Amino acid sequence: MKFGVPMIWKEPLCHTTDYYFCLSKQTGIGKNMRWVYANVPSITFPVPHSDTFPIPNCPDLSQSQTSVISQSSSTDTSDFRSDLTECQGQHEQHLLTQEELNDWVRDLELSKEKAELHASRMKQYHFLDTSVKVTYYRDRDRPYTKYYTSTDNICFCKDIPGLFEELGQPYNAHEWRLFIDSNKSSLKAVLLHNGNEKPSIPIAHAINTKESYETMVKLVKSLNYEDHDWKVCADLKVTGMLCGLQRGYTKYCCFLCFWDSRAREHHYKRKQWPERKSHTLGEGNIKYLPLIKKENILLPPLHIKLGLFKNFVKALDIEGQAFAYLRTLFENLSFAKIKEGPQIKKLLKDDKFQTYLSSVEAAAWNSFQLIVSDFLGNNKSPNYETIVENLLQNYAKMGVNMSLKIHFLHSHLNFFPENLGDVSDEHGERFHQQMKNIERRYQGNWDERMMGDYIWFLIRETDSQRNRRQSGGQTYF
Ligand SMILES: [Zn+2]
Repeated sequence: MKFGVPMIWKEPLCHTTDYYFCLSKQTGIGKNMRWVYANVPSITFPVPHSDTFPIPNCPDLSQSQTSVISQSSSTDTSDFRSDLTECQGQHEQHLLTQEELNDWVRDLELSKEKAELHASRMKQYHFLDTSVKVTYYRDRDRPYTKYYTSTDNICFCKDIPGLFEELGQPYNAHEWRLFIDSNKSSLKAVLLHNGNEKPSIPIAHAINTKESYETMVKLVKSLNYEDHDWKVCADLKVTGMLCGLQRGYTKYCCFLCFWDSRAREHHYKRKQWPERKSHTLGEGNIKYLPLIKKENILLPPLHIKLGLFKNFVKALDIEGQAFAYLRTLFENLSFAKIKEGPQIKKLLKDDKFQTYLSSVEAAAWNSFQLIVSDFLGNNKSPNYETIVENLLQNYAKMGVNMSLKIHFLHSHLNFFPENLGDVSDEHGERFHQQMKNIERRYQGNWDERMMGDYIWFLIRETDSQRNRRQSGGQTYF
């Protein structure tokens, strides 16, 4: 540099007296042109080199670099580098592996097409590891699809032990129960885990079929039921069919005894009825050959609960305050729908409802609430027999008609399994909801690929996700 101290322009305090650039003037024209630089307080003129400001010597670069490196070779530099790496590590973007992306896709419940689109966008923005295959989702169901086959409108699992092996699970038929249920669009058979620790596995899906004996025959045959001998959990209509009983409101509708459903004078009074020991076609409303042993039937607590609730609402005085309150509480429902029993959960939580009940109705309602919490749910109270007895007495006083479900509580309390929560039909209802979502996604193409895809969603591939339960009690393999 030419000067020891350079010229410095500071910010002027005043534009008319202290502004260097405005106050510097040009004089003369052409060759005679000169600049007269203003001398104002805001500037400091440059100071030439002198003894006070000597010209600095240029350092010897080769020597200085060697010395710097030798001084800090193993200490400072390595510290600096490790700090840098650590810092980079903190901010380094984690690239998703295929397994992590798969679990994410499961969380988001994405269809194959949406999963592929999602993966391709993420790849585009460099969120994915290079090993991730975007097209993987097109055939994600393939490992499981091969265990299913379709004939005669039923898509079913042809090799259940094989499917379990594919899922890396040991197969023990006694750990699972068969749940059969249908809605308007389809009939499903699903394996529910006893104890409900493992996810539910759909093993058959029938379309355009009604809940009939013929359908049950097809189902039982295609699943090779005899080889597995599962316990069966289904509503009482299906259970009756599996035991070969005639459909509809028949006189002898209990599969365990010859209870006369029409002999109202005996209702709530006579407990013991002749047991069904043999199976004679045409006798006691037996129309078909039984498809399963009656010992293998699990009574469905959720269905019984809903049935008891329906019976209670039906017996309410329609002119009374309680029924009027129900009509205001469920204003969106028609009179007939309310009579059929509205949303049970909402009513169980509603404290006001009880205040509108008469004393007889209130006693019945209280015993219903008690049976829901202490017998038909996950808890079985030690004095459950008293609770059931009280419910029957209160229902009888209220004039509730005895249904088949009430008959089971009245005459076959011993037939209820020990741990009702472990083998309930409640998980089957949850399965229904999940199946509904996938049925919607497949829009009527309900074949092996849909079943395989459903199974794909039951798996977790990363450890952090594997043992996690999602809301709603969903579990994974
Ligand atoms: Zn019976």
